[in-house]
Amino acid sequence: MIELVVGDITEQAVDAIVNAANSTLLGGGGVDGAIHRAGGPAILAECRDLGGCASGDVKATGAGNLPAKHVLHAVGPMWRGGNHGEPVQLASCHQRAIELAADLGDRTVAFPAISTGAYGYPVELAAPVAIHATQDAMRAYPDVELARFVFRDEATLASYREALGS
Ligand code: ADP
Repeated sequence: MIELVVGDITEQAVDAIVNAANSTLLGGGGVDGAIHRAGGPAILAECRDLGGCASGDVKATGAGNLPAKHVLHAVGPMWRGGNHGEPVQLASCHQRAIELAADLGDRTVAFPAISTGAYGYPVELAAPVAIHATQDAMRAYPDVELARFVFRDEATLASYREALGS
């Protein structure tokens, strides 16, 4: 099942929340800043030992003070016009996050709109890539029963809703 909601991803009572991280995994703004602020220093301490993460890949840590069990740090692509592998990398983030959740025994996962903030990926192009990659991954890993996309605003949600219907 895929749910779309407006809210704050740090408040989601799910097994795993996905972070829109950068490749250093050493902190940033947006979702990343919110997760480290709400989760406390334990998450960053674990990130320091991970040695960064490639674009399109995902690495897990504990979730500190958050209601979740794990944070899945996904490094989305920076938008550079769309011909630099951006869709493949964005799809890979969603695929790898679901795979990692399944490995960790996490059945419910919350995603932000990866790459659509500071990384500049146009929302109407990111939405179908994110939704279809997540649907495919959940078919492959049926133990992951819920992916909840959490947005800051209704306009972003509307783009993902359209992708879910297509
Ligand atoms: P990226 O660098 O991958 O673009 P950002 O964190 O800049 O990541 O933004 C990704 C999306 O997450 C944006 O749509 C932004 O509005 C949204 N966002 C920011 N803070 C939160 C939050 N606390 N919960 C859910 N979404 C958030």
